[in-house]
Amino acid sequence: MPLSAAHADAAAGDAKGTDFAVAPALSDHPAFVPACHAVSGTDTSLRAMTAREAWTCNAGAPRADSPVAWLRFDAQAWDAEERPRHFFTRSARHRSITFAALDADGTLRVRSFAEEEARPLAAGPVFTLPLPEIRKETRALIVRVERPHSVPLLSEARLIYDVEDAGWSGHEMMLLAMVIGMLILPLFFDVSFYVVLRERFVALHAGMVMSMMLYVLFAGGLVSVFWSLPVAFSAVIAPLSWALGCGLSALFLAEFLERDALSPRLRRLTVAAGLWTIVGPGFFALQFHWSQPFDDRGYFLAMMPAAFFTTFAIVRAMMRGSRSARYLALAWAPAIIASIERALRGLGLYVGPSSLDQMLYVATAIEVIVMSLAIADRFLAIRRERDAALTEARMLEHLSSRDALTGLMNRGALEARFDDLLRQGFDTFALVDLDRFKHINDRYGHQVGDGALIACAAALSASGDRDSVAARLGGEEFVVLLRGERTLERAENLRRAIPLRIASQVPGLGAPVTASMGVIELPRASAHALTFEDFYSRADTLMYEAKASGRNRMSYEKLTMFDTAPPSRAQAKARSKDRSKGSRAAA
Ligand code: GH3
Ligand code: MG
Ligand code: MG
Repeated sequence: MPLSAAHADAAAGDAKGTDFAVAPALSDHPAFVPACHAVSGTDTSLRAMTAREAWTCNAGAPRADSPVAWLRFDAQAWDAEERPRHFFTRSARHRSITFAALDADGTLRVRSFAEEEARPLAAGPVFTLPLPEIRKETRALIVRVERPHSVPLLSEARLIYDVEDAGWSGHEMMLLAMVIGMLILPLFFDVSFYVVLRERFVALHAGMVMSMMLYVLFAGGLVSVFWSLPVAFSAVIAPLSWALGCGLSALFLAEFLERDALSPRLRRLTVAAGLWTIVGPGFFALQFHWSQPFDDRGYFLAMMPAAFFTTFAIVRAMMRGSRSARYLALAWAPAIIASIERALRGLGLYVGPSSLDQMLYVATAIEVIVMSLAIADRFLAIRRERDAALTEARMLEHLSSRDALTGLMNRGALEARFDDLLRQGFDTFALVDLDRFKHINDRYGHQVGDGALIACAAALSASGDRDSVAARLGGEEFVVLLRGERTLERAENLRRAIPLRIASQVPGLGAPVTASMGVIELPRASAHALTFEDFYSRADTLMYEAKASGRNRMSYEKLTMFDTAPPSRAQAKARSKDRSKGSRAAA
């Protein structure tokens, strides 16, 4: 009898409800499982497979690494009244599926379907195909699968009465939807963490979560509730997104574990394993026809380096007392157990129902949520560290800008702030130097000298107002910047307060410790045209004059600028040579 390959035009007749919520669980109705399986090359005929010797029955799982895999369903399995009308199995890539109903008289009724004709069911990662008519006298149904890319396509194959009997229950789909919901939340977390932390591990985590979401959508078949996508498409996206998710997980781990939790070598190996997982298993996930003999095994084997190195890295980091590693162990334990189950099932090392996949989806959600908590924990730790560092930096800055003995601003800080102070209107520069201070040191010792310097600083900053700023330039030399009214008069008052303050704070000095002062006052608008050095050297000259004319006095100069427009700094410097001298007075 010639083999006829009738195509699935009758399929439209079975297009009943796709409402997953009302679809009862597969277990509620009889579903017939294959009794025997076999593998062959492409040239073995259906007729040859009618011989009983061709088959292995009731032993082990079918294999997906030969050009053709065969399944046989025997007549005694099904009910005498009603006979199965549909083939139902887990979505996976294949080239074609051919059914042959074998009657008692040797007649074969054949229907054949290309991969594109497989109809995904809106209830899990599954599809159905209509069978050729199965009659009372039908003895067996022989199924020929050309180029099957995965074992579950064969091991989970069933014959059913109705499409509605197949697929996952509403509860299972609700669980999937919940898992997706649980995965969305961490994404929001990630975005907000990233905005604050700008840490790469947060971006890697977000990538991981999105891959896992894609995986659950496609592998769980939830996507087919919304779109009817070709089996080939979801059969590729699911393992591809899983590979991407696993690869990103390893990269995330390498980035997330504390610096001292991993040796640089182990960190590099984990990164390499992560990158490999995206490339290697990613390639096998594409399931080209030419890679069919090895892509199923290849996929799971290529996952091994990442599985090994991530587990190893977590254990090592935990041994080093890593807090993050403990989170990772907690997060990944369920996922690792579920992945091992899935891998063993995927490799055909044992046969279990597709619904076990739910374990992996739930484990994925647990993983992502625990990881989000770990990131939140790290977020708080990083913030604590940053706050402490900031406080320390501020303290150091404060220390480095202050003179250790007197607590006044030091020269460096004054110079740094000088332009700013000019802009704020500090137009009077008073240079202060204690008279014959060497003598104090020589006579009473350095400690007494220090006490006098402290007292002098106190006198200069005594006003405590916002219109004067005192600084210690070094040794017994100070500067006071003043703004506002009567700056010369206020500067002179400060100078006169110095001996009194020293006498009260450092008693027992034979004679008063006086100070000399060189003061420059600028018209306001032109103050910003001079540099610190300009003021300093000018004031120093005035100070020298004060010392030369007997000490314990002030020498001052009021500069007049005729420019109305503010000159450039270079111009100002050039001009500072021929400044006009104002009146001068000695105390
Ligand atoms: P003049 O009136 O000309 O300014 O005389 P002078 O002795 O004050 O001048 P000179 O610059 O020769 O001496 C400054 C002295 O200040 C020298 C040094 O012993 C003292 N001195 C500088 N820094 C400190 C300090 O931090 N503590 C103490 N105790 N003395 C200091
Ligand atoms: Mg002095
Ligand atoms: Mg001096």
